[in-house]
Amino acid sequence: MQFIDLAAQQKRIRKKIEQNLKRVLDHGAYVMGPEVDELEQRLAGMAGVKHALGCASGTDALLLALMALGIGPGDAVLVPSFTFFASAETVSLVGAVPVFVDISSEDFNLDPVKLERAVVALRKNDPRLHPLPELGGGPLKPKAVIAVDLYGLPADYAAINRIADNEGLTVIEDAAQSLGGSRQGKAAGSLGAVGCTSFYPAKPLGAYGEAGMVFTDDDDLAGTMTSLRVHGSGHHSYEHLYIGLNARLDTMQAAVLLAKLDIFSEELELRAQAAARYTELLAESQVETPALPEGCASAWAQYTVLAKDHEHRAALRDKLAEADVPTAVHYPAPVHLQPVYEHLGYRQGDFPVAEFTAGRVFSLPMHPYLKPADQKKIAGLLQKG
Ligand SMILES: *Cc1c(COP(=O)(O)O)cnc(C)c1O
Repeated sequence: MQFIDLAAQQKRIRKKIEQNLKRVLDHGAYVMGPEVDELEQRLAGMAGVKHALGCASGTDALLLALMALGIGPGDAVLVPSFTFFASAETVSLVGAVPVFVDISSEDFNLDPVKLERAVVALRKNDPRLHPLPELGGGPLKPKAVIAVDLYGLPADYAAINRIADNEGLTVIEDAAQSLGGSRQGKAAGSLGAVGCTSFYPAKPLGAYGEAGMVFTDDDDLAGTMTSLRVHGSGHHSYEHLYIGLNARLDTMQAAVLLAKLDIFSEELELRAQAAARYTELLAESQVETPALPEGCASAWAQYTVLAKDHEHRAALRDKLAEADVPTAVHYPAPVHLQPVYEHLGYRQGDFPVAEFTAGRVFSLPMHPYLKPADQKKIAGLLQKG
């Protein structure tokens, strides 16, 4: 059994992929070619935003957003502690400090109540209200929130945007896992001021290499990110307005993505069906299944369940592995306890939900071509008793 079956997908659309790649070989515009424009237009439409800009990875998408917002030294960016490392890493890369916030125990996303408390703690420079990084120097200025749509489920942006508006913070949506999902009728990528996604091969819409995209309705931000994407370039060649990046998108990746985009909405439906089937089959099992709040559509990048604790998870994963069922842990440690952030002085116990969750989660095989019979087998292995 495969954890993600990319070969089954390729078999369906191999011809189209080959045609699209051949077109790139023929025209020879290997970087930012016409396929990139087409992909940007189609995905701007899908996300319901004015601007979609292709870039080199999801990590670069986050960097472009942070750089365009002018975030840097002395600034705080609020980030959930339970996420893929890049959500916080990019904050550090621009010289700002990630201020971690716990996740909700209802889903795996940023807890808005704790977010609000964290902002108050930052304003008052009072770590008794919320664990804050231990740094010498003056208080940090809260500038932005990176809300992450973990496993494909958009976070609670109604609440997050309200807090951000009151506090004058910009919301960056880390939609690396959620492209194709939605909340209250708004598509993932469009839920904050800037949305950032990834086309890493294992994501719901995956390239055959590295690629990413930023989404925004803001003309100024789009203009700045367009420049930053190509070394901060100006109106003519070799004029530079900013210190930027080489974050352009390869045309070959756009060509692959266009072929995959043709079947993406059908694949999202197949993922949703597979997720619903797991939830039904696992209702009386030894694991807790993921919530799908009212008015939300998840892209189901992962189907992630909760064991009782660390030992229970290890036992269940062993049992599944013996039966040839691959599983994975996303993510085994919360970001505030990563060795690289030791200097920030966070401690075990600072974000109890994130810590407890990291010790209990594991993801089951999930992709559009998952067979119901395989899901039944997995559910059988996870039954009680
Ligand atoms: C994958 C991922 C990223 C980074 O995307 P890359 O394309 O791998 O750089 C960022 N944030 C989250 C939540 C991710 O899952």
